Amino acid sequence: MDSGLVRKAEKAKDYAVQPDRVKFTRYDAEFRGDNGDHTISYEAGRWDCSCEFFAGHGTCSHTMAMQMMFEGMVSKDPVASA
Ligand SMILES: [Zn+2]
Repeated sequence: MDSGLVRKAEKAKDYAVQPDRVKFTRYDAEFRGDNGDHTISYEAGRWDCSCEFFAGHGTCSHTMAMQMMFEGMVSKDPVASA
């Protein structure tokens, strides 16, 4: 690795322990739940999950778990993308 790249890698290690620098704008994820796989999407602060519970409640254990995993990087509002 050249010295420029080494410095970048060192900077990356610094950044990696500062999650407050990161805000997700959108992502899609497959969530392996206990009762099956679900598709989660997040865009502009709005959540969606393919599970039945989310359809009725606008939130679910999957989106809640994602909010906990990425605390500070995503919106906590359980807003359904209706
Ligand atoms: Zn769900």
